[in-house]
Amino acid sequence: MRIAPGGTIGILGGGQLGRMLAQAAKTLGYRTVIFTPEEDSPASQVADETIIAPYKREEALKAFADKVDVMTYEFENIPQQTVLFASKDKPVQPSLQALKTSQNRLDEKTFLNRIGVPTTPFAAVQLLDDLVGEAPVLGFPCVLKTQRGGYDGKGQVLIRERKDMGRAYAQMLGQSCIIEAFVEFTRELSIICVRGRSGAIQFYPVVENEHRNHILFRTTAPALISERLEQRAQTIATKIAEGLDYIGVLTVELFETVDGGLLVNETAPRVHNSGHWTIEGAKTSQFENHIRAICGLPLGPTTQTHRAVMTNLIGDDIEKVPEWQAQPSTFVHLYGKTEARPGRKMGHVTQIFPLDD
Ligand code: AMP
Repeated sequence: MRIAPGGTIGILGGGQLGRMLAQAAKTLGYRTVIFTPEEDSPASQVADETIIAPYKREEALKAFADKVDVMTYEFENIPQQTVLFASKDKPVQPSLQALKTSQNRLDEKTFLNRIGVPTTPFAAVQLLDDLVGEAPVLGFPCVLKTQRGGYDGKGQVLIRERKDMGRAYAQMLGQSCIIEAFVEFTRELSIICVRGRSGAIQFYPVVENEHRNHILFRTTAPALISERLEQRAQTIATKIAEGLDYIGVLTVELFETVDGGLLVNETAPRVHNSGHWTIEGAKTSQFENHIRAICGLPLGPTTQTHRAVMTNLIGDDIEKVPEWQAQPSTFVHLYGKTEARPGRKMGHVTQIFPLDD
């Protein structure tokens, strides 16, 4: 079903991704309603309407679903019951299946390996005994992560040697975990693709991501990689999108290994911080393409128009905004958050350059 301009898009989640999705939806002629537990959220500031309620409040979800033609979500830790309940009334894209897969690191990596997508070797950990049995097989160092709920490096701990296992396990407070072999990566990369209702799929170029304190600090688009690696990343993204019968924008975070291969670290069933550069640096932004996909419109071209460097404004970086604004070909995006806490993404800056520069 095609949702024509003039229709209403519901967005679960009120953060900056929801804000930029709502802005793109508006440009395409849609109305937007945000569902978030938060007062004065970044997304609600630019949306037509907001419902403020806890994610599990069914009457509020029902009222939300009644107002919209299609729903999407802007972060993957939305409770599954929320999406399940809302989807009884109106379609939710990407599907509940895509959300479920990305919410649990064990399910995600198991799914990836099943469809032939390589990841670092891993094992499930419930008890300390599991960790003591599996970690030496994977080798040290290795990384212990909670199966659920982690982002920006939260819920993970590096185990350097055998004697660190007990302390690492205790830090996880009995939550179900996954233990992963440590990847000696040369670079962190990501690929963003968009898949439409017809199954047509398009790719943005692979980008390089630099993290600081586990938070994305800078994205460079495109990554300087070989045609072979670019193709490999596209093949991986296609397998995942088709394996999930996915509709919308999908992000795949990758490690480039020392031997020149690619391993998937994780997937995000949504627009992604490493795709913000597409607003100024591609023919169609990731946000617009996500809205197009979920509304059943033709996808826009993903062709890169400018080389781009995107830098996140985290915490006090917000103070440097006037300096950034004085730079040529520099686009500052602020998310309308009033309090600049350490580690909080306050905005981002994209600098663009000619492609052949
Ligand atoms: P995650 O929360 O899984 O996205 O991990 C956050 C960051 O931790 C990644 O972007 C990597 O920099 C690092 N990391 C995660 N898993 C591994 C691993 N198995 N080996 C090496 N570094 C990792």
